[in-house]
Parts: sequence; structure tokens; C-alpha cells
Amino acid sequence: MLTIKNLINGQSVEPIAGNYLDNINPATGEVYARIPDSDERDVDAATAAANAAFPAWSTTPKEKRSAALLKLSSLIEKNLDKLALAETNDQGKPLWLSKSVDIPRAVSNFHFYATAALHTHTEAHAMEQTAINYTLRTPIGVAGCISPWNLPLYLFTWKIAPALAAGCTVVAKPSEITPMTAYILGELSIEAGFPPGVLNIVHGLGPKVGMSIVSHPQIPAISFTGGTKTGEIISATAGPMFKKLSLELGGKNPTIVFADADFDKTVQTAVRSAFSNQGEICLCGSRLLIERSIYEKFKDAFVQEVKKLKVGDPLVEENWLGAIASKPHFEKILSYIDLAKQEGGQLLCGGNTVTPSGRCANGYFIEPTVFENLPFDCRTNQEEIFGPVVTLQPFDTEEEVLQYANSTRYGLACSLWTSDLSRAHRLANQLQFGIVWINCWLLRDLRTPFGGMKGSGVGREGGFEALNFFTEERNVCIRI
Ligand code: NAD
Repeated sequence: MLTIKNLINGQSVEPIAGNYLDNINPATGEVYARIPDSDERDVDAATAAANAAFPAWSTTPKEKRSAALLKLSSLIEKNLDKLALAETNDQGKPLWLSKSVDIPRAVSNFHFYATAALHTHTEAHAMEQTAINYTLRTPIGVAGCISPWNLPLYLFTWKIAPALAAGCTVVAKPSEITPMTAYILGELSIEAGFPPGVLNIVHGLGPKVGMSIVSHPQIPAISFTGGTKTGEIISATAGPMFKKLSLELGGKNPTIVFADADFDKTVQTAVRSAFSNQGEICLCGSRLLIERSIYEKFKDAFVQEVKKLKVGDPLVEENWLGAIASKPHFEKILSYIDLAKQEGGQLLCGGNTVTPSGRCANGYFIEPTVFENLPFDCRTNQEEIFGPVVTLQPFDTEEEVLQYANSTRYGLACSLWTSDLSRAHRLANQLQFGIVWINCWLLRDLRTPFGGMKGSGVGREGGFEALNFFTEERNVCIRI
């Protein structure tokens, strides 16, 4: 059985306590690897290595840092097939998705930040005849990066790449549910010639390893993506330590469909937005709000498309949904299907587990599930399910749909479908979401600010914002 190791000071090492956790393939239910059950001693060792590497890395000319990141980007691309298979075996997502989205995006993350860091600028504020101020940005130190299981390498590299490009050294923790591609990335970073200690990866559980990173006095910045509850715990610990915090948290995103939208395109994209990656994308649209005049027509077309989606072995090309990432999450989703029924939801399709024959007979599969007839303020419509379960709801007016859309504690993303440009602009200004897609979904430009309002997070990733996050700003004022 494969044993994953920590990456500390440029070496693959065992956890100090020698303890391991099981790593399960969710499509088969089988343990197929062991992952370090690290503790604060491993985080201490990683932080010491990162601190020791910081003076040299932070003063390395950025062209040289950029070259190292570009090398890592091309090594990821070279190993795309191996990484995609590892991601699918760890996470349960279809292999075609790992190949076409997850791993290519990890390549882009390193490429984007390797080059973005060459094009930074700072501001100057002249005080007429008196003085000139300029903003000096220096790398903040050791960055703590903690990521979730839904888009494992994609989100892990989305943090690590800007941190390294900005001149920080890193102590990172991937989710214990999906550690494999982070492990391979660590090996590739050695091959890319990263100096020891620049990138350190410590595997293990959130409350042990994650919390040791969050509370470590020598880690001044934490970039976290995960659940809103975990974000609360991290804030409560890091806040009083005055750490810099970037929190990308949960979502409960609406897809808003007006009668004047391009009908076919809307249905197709709404299905993709609802069920991509088994609904396990923080940006998935799980509350479909549809103008009443087209509600029945939209419902019929949507359900008809959903029924065509095949669920099963993620290695089989024709399957559009793979396995749910873990057994506890599988059970959580099923409990929400029960809840939706108790709350009076009318099941339009799905609602059952799927048992494929063959190697996936013990995997965690759920049909894409659609409910209607649930009020906007019931738990099913307010809480993040993070699985293949969505609701349909009619609305009559703009005011009503705004109330529904903005009613949850979350504010990550929404998509709005209309051919009325004035309405699109008007609503974009009133929808309380960090990302508003109009007549599209998941169309990403890495330069744009990415993140959520309200309980969906604090701060923004993407573009120069992420590079700036990993720096400390200093105003230098020179009297003329
Ligand atoms: P999670 O919060 O359980 O775990 C995320 C990471 O935090 C894991 O690495 C975990 O080990 C670690 N962790 C857990 N407890 C911790 C603690 N006390 N201290 C420090 N670290 C701890 O989230 P998850 O279940 O892995 O991911 C699903 C959630 O992530 C969903 O809510 C989803 O919406 C959210 N998410 C948000 C975005 C975004 O960009 N806003 C993107 C992807 C996922």
C-alpha cells in the first residue's frame, strides 16, 4: 500500500509520532493508501524550515522565483495523466473532469502567478510641495495555506502559487480526505529544484495539523478555503493573534432565470452548474429561482436533462457524476434529502443512492436530485448541502427574487439569466454575492477578485489581490 509522507525542508519524511490515517477511494470504498496523522511537532519542524528558507527566498530576484514556479507548472502539465488519475481515485470525481479542469487549472495557477509577480507595481501619493509617499510591499513571512477536498490540487495551488510568487515560504495542509495530489506536488517541487524549506506540506487532520498552523506564532498569514464553521474557529484563533486572514468559505448559490433568457442555453448551463463535480463546488447553483411564467416549461426541460446524467464509476468516460468524496459526506447529503422530504419538498427526480456493479459496488454514489415546493426560508434552501441536490422555486417580481436570493447567510456566487441588459446591471448591484455571473457560470478570469460576502468569507483571492495578501504594506514618507 502506498504511504504518503510529509514534505519538510525539501525531504519526504514520516510524521514524528509515526501514526497514519487511512486514505479511502470513495468510488470503491477501499483503503488504498496511508496518510500521515501529523501533529504540532511536524508543523513546528515545517515552520522552522520555512523560517530558515525565508530570508533567501524572499530576496531571490523575482525573475528567478518566477522561473522556479514556471518549472513546477510545466512539471504538473507533464504529469497531467498521473495527477488526474490520483485526483479521481482520491476524490471520486470523473476522470475526464480531473483531466480537463482540475489539473489544467493547477498548471494555470502556477503559470499565472509566476508571470503576474513580474508585473506588480506600487502606489505613490505626492503631497504637492511637501512630501512624497510610496507604498513598499514586502513578503509577509511564512504563509499558512489550508485547503478543502472538493477541488484538491486546483485550490491547494491557488493559494501556494501566489504565496511563493510573492516571496513567502509556505507551510501547507491539504484536506486529509484528498491528500494524494498534494503529495505528488511536493515531489514535483523537489524535481523543480525548489530550495529546501520554501514549500512544506504537512498532512493530517484539521483540528490537529490545521489548528497548529493557524495558531503557530511564527506564521503571520493564513489563507484558508473550507467550510464556514471551520472559518469561524480559525477566525476565533487567528483574530486575537492579529494574523492576516483570507477566508474562502461555504455558499448556497442561486441561479436566477427570467422568462426573457435564452431558454436552451439556460437549461444546459443550469444543469451543469447544479451537478458538476457531484454538486461539490462551492460555486454550484443549488437554488434555482425561475420566473413563474416559464416555471413549468423550465422545470420539465431541466428535469428531462437531469435524468440523462449518468452516475457511476468515475473512470468510465460516459459517467457525468462520480462518487461523493467521503462516507460522512455521503451520509450528510442523504440526511438532507430526508430533510427536504420532511419539509414538504416534492421530489421531481433522483433522491436515491446508486450501486454500480463491479469494482464500484461499495462506493458512495447519489443520483442527481431535484425538489420543488419548498419555501425559500426552509433549512433545505438555507443550508449548504454541497452535493447533487437542488431545489426549484418560482418567483413573480424582481423584488421577490432579490429577497429569496439574498436570504441566506452566504454570499459567494450567483448566476443571473436574462436578455434585459438594464435588469442585469440593476440586479448585479443588489445581489449580495462576491461573484455575479450574467448569462454564464464558472467563466473564470484569474485576474478578477474571487471570494464571498457575508458568511462566505473575508478577503478576495485572484489577481494581484492574492499577491498583495501575502505581503506587508509599509508607507514610506519622504519630505521634499
Ligand atoms: P472543512 O472546513 O471541513 O475543511 C477544510 C480544510 O480545513 C481541511 O484541510 C481540514 O482538514 C481543515 N480543517 C478542519 N478543521 C480545522 C480546524 N479546526 N483548524 C484548521 N483547519 C481545519 O471543509 P471541507 O469539508 O474540506 O470543504 C467543503 C467546504 O469548503 C464547503 O463549505 C465549501 O463551500 C467550501 N469551499 C469554499 C470555496 C470557496 O472558494 N469559497 C471553495 C471550495 C470549497
